[in-house]
Amino acid sequence: MRLTVIGCSGSFPGPDSPSSCYLLEAEGFRLVIDMGNGALGVLQRYAELFSIDAICVSHLHADHCIDAGSYWIARQFAPDGRRPAIPVYGPPGTEDRIRPFLGNRPRELDQVPFEFRDLAVGQREIGPFLVATDHMNHPLETFGFRVEHAGGRLAYSADTGECEALVRLAQGADLLLCEASYLEGPGNAPDVHLTARQAGEHAARAGVGQLILTHLVPWNDREQSRSQAAQTYHGPLSLATSGMVLEA
Ligand SMILES: [Zn+2]
Repeated sequence: MRLTVIGCSGSFPGPDSPSSCYLLEAEGFRLVIDMGNGALGVLQRYAELFSIDAICVSHLHADHCIDAGSYWIARQFAPDGRRPAIPVYGPPGTEDRIRPFLGNRPRELDQVPFEFRDLAVGQREIGPFLVATDHMNHPLETFGFRVEHAGGRLAYSADTGECEALVRLAQGADLLLCEASYLEGPGNAPDVHLTARQAGEHAARAGVGQLILTHLVPWNDREQSRSQAAQTYHGPLSLATSGMVLEA
C-alpha cells in the first residue's frame, strides 16, 4: 500500500503543511485517515477531488476532522450533481460534530454524501484494507489505527499520551506514524501527547521497522524532535513532511 502524508502539522496548520491527513492507496482504493485544517486543499494535489472512497477520523478535535466538513460541502454541492455517499468512520458523534460546518440548514435539505459509521475497538475491512482500531490516551475518545494490506502493516498513533494500546497496535509494523507533539521539558501535560523521546520508546517497544514522527507542532524545532526520538529508537527514523510518500 502507498501512504502519502497530506498533513502532518500538530494541533494547527503550519506554513508548510496542513493539519493531520494521510492518504492510503491500494488496488485503486483511496482511504483518507483524518482531515484536519487545510487538508482538503493539499489532498487535491495527490487525488482527484471526488476520488476518495472512504474516510476514517481518529477523533473530533478540529485539527483531525474539520476538513471533512469542507469535503461534505464539495460532494453535496458538486455542480454536476451530488456525489455518491462514501463511508466515514469516526467516534460516535462524528456527524453531529461535522454537520454544523454547513450552517443551520434544515436537515431535510441535505442529501448527505457520507454514510457515518461509528468506530469501536476491533477490526474491520475497509476496501482492500484490514483496519484495526484501539483507544488512545487523549482527553476525548480517540482511535489509533493499524492498517494491513498484502503483507504490509502500518500503524498510526493519532493523538495520544503514553499508551500501551499503541504499542500493541504497532507491534511488528513495517512503519509507525507516531505523534511527537512535545519536546522534553517542563509543562507537558500528561495523557495528552507524546514527546519525541516517548514516541521513540513506543516504536522501540513495538519493534517497528521504521518510525515517522508526525503531528509536529510548528513552534517546535524539528531537529530537536529528531534527536530526542533517536535517543530511544535506533532504527530508521524520519520526520513527516507534506507530500512524503511511503510504501508498506
Ligand atoms: Zn491533533
